[in-house]
Amino acid sequence: MNDRSVRVTLLGTGTSTGIPVIGCACRVCTSSDPRNSRLRCSCYVQTPDVNILIDAGPDFRYQALRTPVTRIDAVLITHHHFDHVVGLDDLRPYLFNNRTAIPCYTDAHTAGVLEKMFSYIFKDRDYPGVANLDLISVAKPFEVVDRTTGTGSIRITPVPVRHGNLSIFGYRIGHFAYLTDTSSIPESSFRLLDDLDVLVLDGLRHEPHTKHLTLHDAVEIAGKIGAKQTYFVHMAHSILHEEEDAQLPECMNLGYDGLTFNARLS
Ligand SMILES: [Zn+2]
Ligand SMILES: [Zn+2]
Ligand SMILES: [Zn+2]
Repeated sequence: MNDRSVRVTLLGTGTSTGIPVIGCACRVCTSSDPRNSRLRCSCYVQTPDVNILIDAGPDFRYQALRTPVTRIDAVLITHHHFDHVVGLDDLRPYLFNNRTAIPCYTDAHTAGVLEKMFSYIFKDRDYPGVANLDLISVAKPFEVVDRTTGTGSIRITPVPVRHGNLSIFGYRIGHFAYLTDTSSIPESSFRLLDDLDVLVLDGLRHEPHTKHLTLHDAVEIAGKIGAKQTYFVHMAHSILHEEEDAQLPECMNLGYDGLTFNARLS
C-alpha cells in the first residue's frame, strides 16, 4: 500500500443467512469452491494512519481472527439489521490495550435503534466490562483519526441509499465506495460516487427482492456509476460464483470473502 491509498478487505460477502445456509444441500451451499462460502457482509479498510471497520455482524469475531483485523480506530455502521450489527460487542478486545472509546458512526435513525438494541452499551452502562463505544450520528462528511494519537485524519462521506423502505448509509473513503443492502440509489447520491477506483455494491440474486438489487439491476447501476472496478456482495445461495462471475461485464466481478484490493485515497 503506498502512502496515498486505502487497502480494502472484504470480510464477508453473503446475504443475511450466510452461505452455506443451515440445512441446505443446493449446489452453492455444498460447493467446494471457497468463493461460494460467504460470511455476513463486512469490510476492513486500512489507510496509512487509520483502520476502519464497516459493520460488525454475527461473524465478526471469526472474520477478525482469520483476516486478521488487528486494529480498529472507527466503525462505520450502514444500518441496524442483525447481519450488520450483532458483532458490536465483540469489539471489546480492541479496547484492552487502548481504552479510548471506539467511535461508531451512523445515521440518526440507526443510532436511535442501536441505542435500544444495545442499551447496556450505548445508554445504561450498568455493569463492568461493557464495550466503550461512542455512538455518533452523522449526516455530512466527517473525519476519523488514529485512536491512539488523535492524528492522521481521514475524510468519510456518507452516501444515502434506499434499502426497501429504509434510507441507510453507504460510505465513500477516497476513491472507494461501499454500498451494501441497496434497493435503489437516489439521484443526489450519484454525485457522491464520481471518479471511483472501486465500488462495492449489493447484488443479491436474480429474483426480485423489495430490499435488495438484483444482479441485473446492480450491473446497470454499476455501469451508470462507472467505477474502474465493481465488486458485488450480499449474494444469496442462488449465485454460483464461477458461473455468474463469468457472465458479468468487464470490470465487474462478484466479490468473495477475503478479497483485497487498493484504491486511491486522494
Ligand atoms: Zn444485510
Ligand atoms: Zn443453498
Ligand atoms: Zn439490511
